[in-house]
Amino acid sequence: MYQPPQRYLMGPGPGPVSPSVLQASAQPTIGHLDPAFIELMNTVQGQLREVFKTDNAFSMPFSAPATGAMEACLINVLEPGDRVLVCQNGVFGVRLAEMARRCGAEVEVLEFPWGRAVDPQQLADKLGASKPFKLVCWVQAETSTGVLSDSQQLAEAVRPHGCLTLVDCVTAIGGCPIEVDAWGLDMVYAGSQKCLSAPPGIAPITVGERALDALRQRKTPVQSWFMDFSLLGGYWAGSGKRAYHHTAPVNAVYGLHEALSLLLQEGLDASWARHRVVNAALVAGLAELGIAPIPPQAERLPPLTTIGIPEGIDDAEFRTYLLNEHNLEIGAGLGDFAGKAWRIGLMGHGCNLEAVERCLNAIAAGMR
Ligand code: PLP
Repeated sequence: MYQPPQRYLMGPGPGPVSPSVLQASAQPTIGHLDPAFIELMNTVQGQLREVFKTDNAFSMPFSAPATGAMEACLINVLEPGDRVLVCQNGVFGVRLAEMARRCGAEVEVLEFPWGRAVDPQQLADKLGASKPFKLVCWVQAETSTGVLSDSQQLAEAVRPHGCLTLVDCVTAIGGCPIEVDAWGLDMVYAGSQKCLSAPPGIAPITVGERALDALRQRKTPVQSWFMDFSLLGGYWAGSGKRAYHHTAPVNAVYGLHEALSLLLQEGLDASWARHRVVNAALVAGLAELGIAPIPPQAERLPPLTTIGIPEGIDDAEFRTYLLNEHNLEIGAGLGDFAGKAWRIGLMGHGCNLEAVERCLNAIAAGMR
């Protein structure tokens, strides 16, 4: 049997998986239409509604990594020529725009500096000065830069214009507030492998009625059979009879169920607070080493801290040292931040003061 090395995962994800999630995932596989599995599907959907704070019937784990869920949301509502505005402040905004272009949409990008949040006022100004957009997208927790944008204010800026909204909550889920219904978000996708502390490869999504209406009103069929929400809905969305669509990743659903149970047992507020408190301890410890986060304080993402690489240190060599000598993984910079920044994740099960101490000690030892 393959034996992976024991690592402390403190990068941008995957984060460490909770032991009971691993145990749950290793339970015997049952049929994906077995009444017991269908009961579990209902339970997981209810859990996702609680975590997303929504009544959306179409809330489910999508059988793909979060990139697949991102593409699925775009592909279902966009038809050639539709106008899309993508707020871009890092790698995942770039990915959203590229995917929307591949749907044949007319894409405009509202750019923000790397390391800064999406500014609601600039979004409002852009929407006020442009021809109408069908869809506006942004990344709430930009993992490439360690920045948190305010989805509530961004949704408020969009509301008067009636556009649909699509929000990337991959790193936000479990680590930062998300209120799908109260904020009026139309489509949200997330990831299992960050603050939910489940293995990668399955992606929670929730889709509201306005987005489903846009899907119903399409002139052309969704170009992907697998991703077509109207077909997928027959398996996941109804609470009545479920029809075969694809073979669900049964064991991944066991794991997600356990991960969501742990989060809900702790409580959403308590989990968000823990991410803030533990992040503050990391930032304080880094300050003692002369290292500061790149984003301004009010825009920092508690589950992921982006720091400048200390002067005189070789990026790749230092990260290899951490991995080889301390079994500690931290993340390299991505995109504009490649070679300039490190990313330290404190996510879900891995978000605790012991992890902070381990990381600070390892960095301090390497800098000596
Ligand atoms: N969006 C954000 C903000 C992410 O951090 C990631 C992964 O790191 C993704 C999307 C893509 O997720 P996946 O790698 O699971 O496809």
